[in-house]
This record gives sequence, C-alpha cells and structure tokens, in this order.
Amino acid sequence: MVLNRLLILGAGTAGTMAANHLAKVLDHDWSITVVDRDVDHHYQPGYLFVPFWMDPDRVLKDRRDFLPGRATFRQEAVRLVHPGRRQVELAGGDLLDYDWLVIASGSVPRPDLVPGMADGALWRDTVHEFYTHEGAVALRDALPASTPAGCSCTCAASASPPTSPWSGSTTSAGGWSPTTAASCPSTCW
Ligand SMILES: Cc1cc2nc3c(=O)[nH]c(=O)nc-3n(C[C@H](O)[C@H](O)[C@H](O)COP(=O)(O)OP(=O)(O)OC[C@H]3O[C@@H](n4cnc5c(N)ncnc54)[C@H](O)[C@@H]3O)c2cc1C
Repeated sequence: MVLNRLLILGAGTAGTMAANHLAKVLDHDWSITVVDRDVDHHYQPGYLFVPFWMDPDRVLKDRRDFLPGRATFRQEAVRLVHPGRRQVELAGGDLLDYDWLVIASGSVPRPDLVPGMADGALWRDTVHEFYTHEGAVALRDALPASTPAGCSCTCAASASPPTSPWSGSTTSAGGWSPTTAASCPSTCW
C-alpha cells in the first residue's frame, strides 16, 4: 500500500540520480513519480563535440531507460509548485500530490543578461554557445570553413577515438595535424 509520495521534477542528470538512489533506500510504501516535459535525456558534456564532429543525436537517449523500474514517469511541463498544499500543478492543469518534493529542473543559459551578447542579429550567427543542444548544432553549422576536415578522414590509424576535438591542430594548408598518431581514429565519424 502506498502511503508516501516522492515527486521529482526534472529527469536530467540530477533528477535521474535522485530517483535511482532513493529507489534503493525508500520502502515500498513510497511511490516515486518523475516529471519531465520531454523524453530526451541529454548527455550535456557531449555538446562540446557536436560543433566539431559528433552527430548531435548521439548525445540524446530516452530518459525513461535510466529511471528505476518502480518509478512512474509523467511527460508534461510543470507550471507551478504549491508548497502550502504540497501539490504541483502541471501545464495541462492536473495536480500531483507529494510528501517529498525534489526540484531538479536544471539551468538555462541567459545570454540576454550579458549586454551585447544576445541582442541583434549576431546571436547564433557570429556569437555562439555550446551549452544547449540547439546552440551546439548552430555553432557546428557556422563552422564548416574552419572545421578541421582532415580529422575525420586523414588521420593516422588508432584503435580509440581522440579524447578531445583539440588533440591536433590545423595546418597552414587548411588540413588537420593530430598531435600524436594515436589521437585520431582511422575512419570518418
Ligand atoms: C558543454 C558542457 C560540458 C559539461 N561538462 C561537464 C563535466 O565535464 N562534468 C560535470 O560534472 N558536468 C559537466 N557539465 C554539466 C552537467 O552536464 C550538468 O550540470 C548536468 O547535466 C545538469 O543536470 P541537471 O539534472 O541539474 O539539469 P538538466 O540535465 O538540465 O535537467 C533538467 C531537466 O528538467 C526539465 N525541466 C525543466 N523545467 C521543466 C518544467 N517546467 N517542466 C518539466 N520539465 C522541466 C528539463 O526538460 C530537463 O530534462 C557540462 C555541461 C555542458 C553544457
């Protein structure tokens, strides 16, 4: 019988870890519900590689695969928390009751707070970030002329991929020279 309700808002890294850790220690008289607006778990450090070589889809996985079996996943945006009533209001109007609430809704870049950064036509044209999936993709699209194309095809053979996209340098001829032969794979990504 469920007596207590754990509600986790956000199924990114923090919400997913909270759900998994708490699933191990909470008795089965606890229900666990995780809410997120979508099903795409983002491996955010992978954004670093997207502008240079990585397929953007590779940093996305179905977030439901990482939640513990006893958790219920609810896909919907959260609109409001009513702490006095211990309720969370979803975008569609449903109310979720909780006994414990974990807010793990992450952060968003605020370039608008840096004068000159996000205003005007330069944003995502010549001014970029790679702290969001769409930002990393926009930076990739803005870089084709300077992307070291040689990194994908002309490097020395190696069994493992480079540890970072900066393990080499561009050459004056416009090519790509890996720092060490072992730092690039033999095939294109
Ligand atoms: C380029 C880059 C490199 C990084 N490198 C490292 C590293 O080397 N080491 C390291 O430890 N960390 C690194 N980080 C940081 C790390 O990735 C983040 O700290 C971590 O992913 C944040 O997890 P989170 O769960 O707090 O937030 P998120 O993963 O952003 O999750 C928040 C979730 O809440 C959901 N959400 C938000 N608002 C609502 C709402 N109103 N309704 C419904 N759902 C909502 C979102 O959809 C999202 O799924 C890096 C990040 C970036 C961008």
